[in-house]
Amino acid sequence: MQKSQQLFENAKNIIPGGVNSPVRAFNGVGGTPCFIKRAEGAYIYDADDKAYIDYVGSWGPMILGHNHPAIREAVIETAQNGLSFGAPTELEITMAEKVRELVPSMESLRMVSSGTEATMSAIRLARGYTGRDKILKFEGCYHGHADSLLVKAGSGALTMGVPNSPGIPEDFAKHTLTVSYNKLDEVKAMFEAVGQEIACIIVEPVAGNMNCIPPVEGFLEGLREICDQYSSVLIFDEVMTGFRVALGGAQAFYNITPDLTTLGKVIGGGMPVGAFGGKKAIMDYIAPVGPVYQAGTLSGNPIAMAAGLASLNELSQGDKHQQLADATEKLAMGFKAAAERNGVSLSINYAGAMFGFFFTDEEQITTYEQATACDGEKFKRFFHLMLEQGVYLAPSAFEASFLSTAHSEEILDKTLAAADKCFAQL
Ligand code: PMP
Repeated sequence: MQKSQQLFENAKNIIPGGVNSPVRAFNGVGGTPCFIKRAEGAYIYDADDKAYIDYVGSWGPMILGHNHPAIREAVIETAQNGLSFGAPTELEITMAEKVRELVPSMESLRMVSSGTEATMSAIRLARGYTGRDKILKFEGCYHGHADSLLVKAGSGALTMGVPNSPGIPEDFAKHTLTVSYNKLDEVKAMFEAVGQEIACIIVEPVAGNMNCIPPVEGFLEGLREICDQYSSVLIFDEVMTGFRVALGGAQAFYNITPDLTTLGKVIGGGMPVGAFGGKKAIMDYIAPVGPVYQAGTLSGNPIAMAAGLASLNELSQGDKHQQLADATEKLAMGFKAAAERNGVSLSINYAGAMFGFFFTDEEQITTYEQATACDGEKFKRFFHLMLEQGVYLAPSAFEASFLSTAHSEEILDKTLAAADKCFAQL
């Protein structure tokens, strides 16, 4: 940790908190963040050359493992022709077609450069399309840091205790309605009160920013019905779940079709990419065909498209998602068994290649209230014990962890052996 400590001190002199995105600062767990030098497969290596089995995967994109040769080569090859043109390219069509092949509800789609841009644009579009101002989101769900969406948000906003960030005028925030995730009754009540004014519901179909909380049975179906009844737009924010919970995202896994979908992370294979898309009738409201303005100088950047396309092509070969789901289940069950052996109360949630664990006596965690009531101190201690053992988990009790196809049986076994030791010390 010596070099990371030094780098962290240097970074704090020039970058706020020493990081370019808050959760990286280990605010949720304390201590010095690992500064990373390189990564390969399931491993990341810090500035001191210590290896860690990585369950963060750059917060999602590294679903094929780090430094995948197909992605690296696509980037190098495409870069030979120039880095950005600010004009359309054929690669953008190929990429859009690939995304639509995998997520057919995205009849028409547009590329952006981050998940934040994708959700921000989808919300503006839903408002423009419906002519309504209010939006409904769920407490503990995070959809990027656009003003309207940083209300009762998850992820770093939750860890840092700033669910309503200063800098967001009351006048903006008042249009964002929030209810509890997995509680359909609250959604119904809100719509009964002001449904005709609600442009959209935006939801993480598996919540991954208050740890990992899958939807309870009937929740997503209920949201679909309510949106149909009130002519509101249903937006699935699949920035985390897209291509991860299943090849077709959570919408394929749960068989619910949203009106709009937002994507990010995985879609870029590690390059900064996001996308939003859905029903053509709605997407046709976007400029230049429609009146809702949305733009981006680097949107559809050729290197990002090449990396994303290589990643999606590779992901669609063979049944990688079955492999990922099996590996996740093995890991989850192994964690649970190791905790039990050591007398630690643990509850585990998982969906596709994402998982999260909660230090709690409760059998199952399905709500924000339950997630935030878990033993955060125990999580911190466990995180640091695992880090010492060379396992890098998401550095916050409110983030999901991720597997990749590079997490072999052997690597999972190593992780579980480390977990056994760490639970024993808790
Ligand atoms: N939506 C969800 C569900 C996310 O998890 C995130 C990021 N963690 C975002 C949106 C924002 O994406 P980005 O950080 O790329 O702006």
